[in-house]
Amino acid sequence: TQWFKGKKVLVIGLAKSGMAAARLLNELEASVTVNEAKDMSGTKEAKELEEKGIDVVSGSHPLHIMDEGIEYVVKNPGIRYDTPIIRRALEKGLPIVTEIELAGMVCGGSIAAVTGSNGKTTTTTLIHEMLLKSSVSSYAAGNIGRVACETAPLVQPGEVMVTEVSSFQLKGTAEFHPRTAVLLNIVDAHLDYHGTRDDYQQSKAKIFANLTASDATVYNAEDPVVSAIAEQSNADLVPFSVNGWTTKGAFIQNGWYWFRDTPILSADEASLPGRHNQENMLAAIACAMLNGAEPDAVRTVLRHFQGVEHRLQFVGRVHKRDVYNDSKSTNILSAQKAVAAFEAPVVLLAGGLDRGNSFDALIPSLQKTKAAVFYGESREKLAEAAKKAGMESWHFADTLEEAVEKGFLLTDEKDVFLLSPACASWDQFQTFEERGDTFIQAVQSLDAPR
Ligand code: ADP
Repeated sequence: TQWFKGKKVLVIGLAKSGMAAARLLNELEASVTVNEAKDMSGTKEAKELEEKGIDVVSGSHPLHIMDEGIEYVVKNPGIRYDTPIIRRALEKGLPIVTEIELAGMVCGGSIAAVTGSNGKTTTTTLIHEMLLKSSVSSYAAGNIGRVACETAPLVQPGEVMVTEVSSFQLKGTAEFHPRTAVLLNIVDAHLDYHGTRDDYQQSKAKIFANLTASDATVYNAEDPVVSAIAEQSNADLVPFSVNGWTTKGAFIQNGWYWFRDTPILSADEASLPGRHNQENMLAAIACAMLNGAEPDAVRTVLRHFQGVEHRLQFVGRVHKRDVYNDSKSTNILSAQKAVAAFEAPVVLLAGGLDRGNSFDALIPSLQKTKAAVFYGESREKLAEAAKKAGMESWHFADTLEEAVEKGFLLTDEKDVFLLSPACASWDQFQTFEERGDTFIQAVQSLDAPR
């Protein structure tokens, strides 16, 4: 961490992680400039940074700041590598560091990192709770809690930071070295950012790049793409499987969760619904046990964990229908898993940002769905899939609120009323949290259908 002392560092993009990176670099005595495309003049954030002696350039990304002696660039993971300012940095051969790399540099304890297309937050939270319950000092970072580079300086030797890491973040890493790395699954997500599937997979594989024989790689043995990537790592291989026996890792066999030769819990006692959550729970068991968790504590967490908000969250029984908010479902895989998690008939609300993809992969799920209402930018594309699925009851709405009203009229008693959009929220909402809250509010003001 002496690394940055006296160095000129440019932080590009000032969302949560950019602010945290700027503060951290300032404490490490770097000479920091921040640059944000939105105009920040007069904001609380700009004032705070300026008081620390940080230069704030906002309103655009002027290329000339790259020519003013900058030695390092810290980039917000969301900013693409083909934006002009990043291209300029690359042309100049400047090292581009991401926030997670910085976090790794200043973390005094060990890091357990979770990646995958889906399930990161859920699994991270499970691991963290299992460790805390076992009296292992643990910090959770990422989407829950604070961002990693804000958390990392607090972590002391002997303590653990459990953090989720996205493919955007991993793409920019060079020396990031977790002691336990978890790879859950991989689907064609974020192709708009990564360009190709190969680039996306390569980014995920980087979680393993610096692991050594004394580290551990936890991965889904049922997924051939995931296994192929994970098995190339130099670490101890710890597979997990929902389909029984894998003596080296975690598995479900004859209705029991096991870690190696330790029985953990009867499967019907686990609180989270759906096969996808079984995968998350197995990954969490393996990772937590490797980091010193007690079987008793793991068992207690699996029995009582209520899920993370907006992830297939049970909202309640409303006029005798079970309502679930899965607003964090931003791709097809999560919507498939949500529909598959229920035995009762499902009325589905889906739609949102149109990334140009087709929804053909959702056809089998739509065939299982009793009725659906599509809203937002992608609604026509979803309707194409519904037609191909031979669905009889599908409908359009302009807004989510309207979709709630229309959809609820299609439910009968004991049905599941599910928001699992399969799309990002940004066409109509600021965040998926706002989308989920809107759904819950709209549901709570519904009259009983006649
Ligand atoms: P992430 O942090 O990777 O976005 P979350 O735990 O926030 O993952 O869950 C995001 C969405 O994916 C939710 O809709 C959730 O129900 C679904 N999901 C969770 N775990 C899995 C999994 N293992 N496979 C597929 N979908 C999952």
